[in-house]
Amino acid sequence: MATSSPDSSKPVFRFAPSPNGQLHLGHALSALTNERMAERFGGSLLLRIEDIDLTRCRPEFEQAIHDDLTWLGIRLDGAVRRQSEHFDDYRAVLGRLQAKGLIYPCFCSRQKVKQAVAAKEAESGQPWPRDPDGSPVYPGTCRSLSRQEAEARIAAGEAHVLRLAMDRALAMIGSDVWYRLFDESGTETVIKARPTRWGDVVLARKDVPTSYHLSVVIDDAIQRVSHVVRGRDLEAATDIHAVLQRLLGLPAPRYHFHRLLIDETGQKLAKSRLSESLADLRARGVTAAEVRAQLGFT
Ligand code: GLU
Repeated sequence: MATSSPDSSKPVFRFAPSPNGQLHLGHALSALTNERMAERFGGSLLLRIEDIDLTRCRPEFEQAIHDDLTWLGIRLDGAVRRQSEHFDDYRAVLGRLQAKGLIYPCFCSRQKVKQAVAAKEAESGQPWPRDPDGSPVYPGTCRSLSRQEAEARIAAGEAHVLRLAMDRALAMIGSDVWYRLFDESGTETVIKARPTRWGDVVLARKDVPTSYHLSVVIDDAIQRVSHVVRGRDLEAATDIHAVLQRLLGLPAPRYHFHRLLIDETGQKLAKSRLSESLADLRARGVTAAEVRAQLGFT
């Protein structure tokens, strides 16, 4: 695996936006927190473009990321890694997990999962568990498909994802999975991961040989990222990342989760809700220095 960090003893941070919309103040907070921590720890800061979603990611949004970071005055080091150029890396890792019997094809649409969960709830009279993002935990419908049937359906061209068999994964690495948090003073805390609350997560989507969870751990390893700084909305997902790092024998970065910005309706800023973009702020005359000051960076 190639690396863009020549000095492995130096801390490596990364900012990893997805070019599926315009960046907003929340992204500025993330980039600036990364920059400040990288400076404080004497590390470098890499940019990674997380563009595995081929339908929603667009070149103009990627260009906007570069424009916004330049405007904010964020100093970046090393080569930019664009995930859509590395599907072979992800495919190779899926092959390793497959060889260990840890992934299985799942043909369920979202609708089908919903129906299976509703049926389970009706049968038991109990709410079915939700994962930390609020989605129903996969009820395991395709886990028991015979290999023959799964292969026949794949050969017939039926759309499918690949899921991690979480119980088998934990049987292999042990259920004592943890990761390390760090703060601005350098203090570290060990956090026990709770991966079972996620169930059999998707490691490869229907249309691409990867998912956010898979590519993020592979890329953090390939880019030799030692310190991950990202929003609190991704804290729970770190359970899954810690499992994948153990399974694949990858070095585990330390993590820091920064606050999320909330709008006047009390919801976190989001591209999907068309929160005011950095480009909009710029267009109405707000300066980068004002953005920095507003977010607490002087
Ligand atoms: N690509 C993710 C996002 O834009 C960030 C992933 C990460 O930092 O791990 O929200």
